[in-house]
Amino acid sequence: MNFQGKTAIVTGGSRGIGRAVCLELAKHGANVVLCFAGNEAAAQKTAADCEALGARALAVRCNVADAAEVQALVAAAVESFGGLHILINNAGITRDGLLLRMSESDFDAVLDTNLKGAFLCMKAAAKPMIRQRYGRIVSLSSVVGLRGNAGQVNYAASKAGIIGLTKSMAKELSGRGITANAVAPGFIETDMTASMTESARAVTLSTIPAGRLGSPEDVAKAVVFLASDDAAYITGEVLSVDGGMAM
Ligand code: NAP
Repeated sequence: MNFQGKTAIVTGGSRGIGRAVCLELAKHGANVVLCFAGNEAAAQKTAADCEALGARALAVRCNVADAAEVQALVAAAVESFGGLHILINNAGITRDGLLLRMSESDFDAVLDTNLKGAFLCMKAAAKPMIRQRYGRIVSLSSVVGLRGNAGQVNYAASKAGIIGLTKSMAKELSGRGITANAVAPGFIETDMTASMTESARAVTLSTIPAGRLGSPEDVAKAVVFLASDDAAYITGEVLSVDGGMAM
């Protein structure tokens, strides 16, 4: 894969899966614009690590749920690197709780970041991509968006929504050289899953045919493939990266 001359935005690139995607893109020569919510030190470290791999990189504070901030993020990518070819909708949060105890604000917060954020980023990125007649959009769904999960109605709804958003966008824009796909990770070892109890981890592990939890790099490889020219004829797909968990 060769991403020389291509510019990618990775939302939530400061940590976890987003950071691994940034490094994988940088390794293959892309210019990387990563956004973060509040963790500036981690974001600057990811940017510096991308540069150490020979790429150009920029870290931008941007709340993906804010339309004006997302527009500024896309403008920063286009102004800094002369275009925008790849969007990775990775930023995501959880606010878990059983339905009867879930507050409206926890429901809204998760939908705003995970689903509305992806919508705002797609909408802003589509403009330069249509002008270029080239684009790759990859959005992070989840095994939970495919199968549901007790205690995560908000998160599951947001991740199922990513699939509808992706397929609809693929139908609208694939004729303009823009593909839209989703990746559905299973249980990946990041800060998001770090607070799980040992017993809950053991139960989860027993449902994974591959016999291990996933790494951010496992997911990043699939994301970057879908962002590459090699995936030009794949659009509207959902690729599970879960060690067989969702089968
Ligand atoms: P993580 O380690 O918790 O990192 C989340 C990232 O999102 C951070 O970079 C964070 O920035 C950023 N972020 C959060 N809210 C944001 C906002 N409003 N605007 C911009 N950036 C924001 O998460 P992860 O585990 O790597 O997950 C990445 C994606 O994969 C998420 O969409 C998640 O739902 C999905 N996923 C994860 C798993 C898993 O097992 N880990 C499984 C399936 C799907 P700061 O550092 O500034 O806070």
